[in-house]
Amino acid sequence: MTLRLEGKKALITGAGSGIGGAIAELFAREGADLALLDMDADAVDQFALKLEADAGRRCVPLHADVTDAARIQDCFAQAIDALGRIDILINCAGVNVFRDPLTLQAADWDRCLDVNLRGVWHCISAALPSMLAAGYGHVVNIASVHGHKIIPGSFPYPVAKHGLIGLTRSLGIEYASRGIRVNSISPGLIMTPAAERWLASCPDPAAERQRQADLLPGKRIGEPSEVAYAALFLASDEARFINATDLLIDGGRSQIYHD
Ligand code: NAP
Repeated sequence: MTLRLEGKKALITGAGSGIGGAIAELFAREGADLALLDMDADAVDQFALKLEADAGRRCVPLHADVTDAARIQDCFAQAIDALGRIDILINCAGVNVFRDPLTLQAADWDRCLDVNLRGVWHCISAALPSMLAAGYGHVVNIASVHGHKIIPGSFPYPVAKHGLIGLTRSLGIEYASRGIRVNSISPGLIMTPAAERWLASCPDPAAERQRQADLLPGKRIGEPSEVAYAALFLASDEARFINATDLLIDGGRSQIYHD
C-alpha cells in the first residue's frame, strides 16, 4: 500500500491540540516526518513522543508563540536541521477572540490579528526561502467559516479569518510559478478542546451543544479527523493543480440562507 505522504516533511503549528493534533496523527500514519510547533510545550513534547512510538515517524517538538517572528525563524531552522527540509506547512495555531465591538480592548484586537493572521505570515515567510530554493512546497492555512459568513457576537475573529483567506489567495498566486501552492480550509464548528471551552462558557452548555448540532444540515458537529483528511488531500501531490483556494468543511451549514 502506498502511503500518501511517504517521504514528506511537514511542519504543523498548533499541533498540541484539536485540529492540529488530528492532522499530525494522520500525516504520521501516511508516512510524513513531522515538526510539531505549539505554545504548549508539555503538550507538544508528550505528543511528539507518543506519535514517534505509535507511527514510527520522526517527530520534532518545537516550542513557540507564532506571534514571535524571531523565535519562529529559529524554530524553522531547527526543523530544517532535523528533517532536512520542509515540504508541507500547516498553519493551525489560532485563538477565538469573540467580543462586543464597542467594548473591545486594544489588546484583544492585537492578540486576535497577531495570532490568527500575522502569525501565519511569520510561519510562511520562515518556510518560503527553503521551499523556493527546492521549487516545491504546499501550504495549508486553517481559516474558518467565520472567514466567509458573519456570526453576530464573534468580532474581531472574522476580520482575521477573512484576512487569512486573502493571504492564502494572494500568496498562492505570488508563488505559483515557482512550485509553491497555498490553500486554506474553512471548518465549521469542530469538537476540539477550544470548542469545548467555548461551550463551557455558555450559560447552558448542553442546550448550546444541542442548538449547534441542530443548526447543521447533518444534525451533528464536526470531528477534528474530518478536517485532517481534507488537509491531507490539499497537502499531498494529489492536489497539485489546486491552488489559492479555500475548502469549506461545515457540513453545508454556510449554504443555508435561513432555516
Ligand atoms: P485548540 O484545540 O485550542 O488548538 C490550538 C492549538 O494552538 C493549541 O495547542 C494552542 O495552544 C495553540 N496555539 C494557540 N495560540 C498559539 C500561538 N500564538 N502560537 C503557537 N501555538 C498556539 O483549537 P482548535 O479548535 O483545534 O483550532 C485550530 C484552528 O482551527 C484555529 O486556527 C481555529 O481558529 C481554527 N478553527 C477551529 C474551529 C473549531 O470549531 N474548533 C472552527 C473553525 C476554525 P494553547 O492550548 O496553549 O493555547
